[in-house]
Amino acid sequence: MKKLYFADARTREISYDVSMVAKLEQILKEADLSHYIKEGDYVAIKIHFGSRGGHRGIRPVFLRKIVEAVKSVGGNPFLTDTVRPKGLDYLEIANMQGLNHLSVGCPVVLADGLFGKNYVRVPAGESLKEIGIAAEIYDAQAMIVVSHCKGHIQAGFGGAIKNLGMGAISSRNREGTSERGKIHNLARVSIIHFQDKCILCGRCAEACDHGAITVGDTFELDNTMCVKCGRCVEACENKALGMEQDEERMQRGVAEAARAAISTFEKGKVFYISFMTDIMPHCDCHPHADTPIINDQGILAGDDPVAIDKAALDIIESKNPLADSAAEGMKPGKGLLERVTKRNPYVHVTAAADLGVGELEYELVTVERKKKE
Ligand code: SF4
Ligand code: SF4
Repeated sequence: MKKLYFADARTREISYDVSMVAKLEQILKEADLSHYIKEGDYVAIKIHFGSRGGHRGIRPVFLRKIVEAVKSVGGNPFLTDTVRPKGLDYLEIANMQGLNHLSVGCPVVLADGLFGKNYVRVPAGESLKEIGIAAEIYDAQAMIVVSHCKGHIQAGFGGAIKNLGMGAISSRNREGTSERGKIHNLARVSIIHFQDKCILCGRCAEACDHGAITVGDTFELDNTMCVKCGRCVEACENKALGMEQDEERMQRGVAEAARAAISTFEKGKVFYISFMTDIMPHCDCHPHADTPIINDQGILAGDDPVAIDKAALDIIESKNPLADSAAEGMKPGKGLLERVTKRNPYVHVTAAADLGVGELEYELVTVERKKKE
């Protein structure tokens, strides 16, 4: 049974010591990052930089504490994510989200380079065979996977495993196609365009970060650019786009890719921190941020990505859905995220457990407040 630290989002007194920031400080102290990081290690802090229109990512105030904790044990931290929009645009998005050297206290680096083509292929299991891990993650000596928990259009849930299984994979490859798209392709996704319903409004092209759709006098989809993420399908209000997929195959691919990313580190060099805050129905990569489906729940931390995702799912699904959200009127309990996202979020978490990435059983150690020195 894996031990996980948990800090509740509720604060019941007027004191810095019970703030989530202070509780995170306490977690980092009790977890003792020197178990994971050696003096001089380059430490990738893997997060999601967000999007042009999103605003519910992990706030710099928390990231700064993580950076300080890494530095305090002699590590050299850098905040990183893989390219989705073009590299310079994505760095500007990070800046707009408040993620820069000044705010977080360390460099902000694209893990797969400005063009999303810097990677090292590693073995990745039965369905993927091999996958390109972003070079700066591959070469780092230690990693802290900092995940924002929320729903996801294809995996049902975006937590630690998804943050690695998609987010640590190079955007493109040297063969001129999408490396990350190989995971989406496992789902044998096909994007279907219903011409009779299409009014050529261009919303789908606007929603596509990969430049795969052109809308002028006609609708054109470039399948060599398309990573099968499904955002255009959600963006189309006329139901002129549809998506067919083999969900289980794709989610197993996410688990295989996460294992491949972890395999590039020596044992015991990866730590996980997950924020159950601003829990939206969809991923941070969407060009907007819907209202949260439940209230903020807090922070989980530990060294097992399966346990941390399972704990996050258990906590999220036990809470009451909020009014004025995508989950309004739904019953709490197992299946809540599936009802919201139409995808079973347990598939990739269970697949990761089957692949030996971690354990589904966990115990929570609750951190109530920052203790006096
Ligand atoms: S959003 Fe829908 S209706 Fe608009 S151009 Fe795209 S497919 Fe056509
Ligand atoms: S699925 Fe749609 S939004 Fe996603 S890459 Fe393909 S065309 Fe773009």
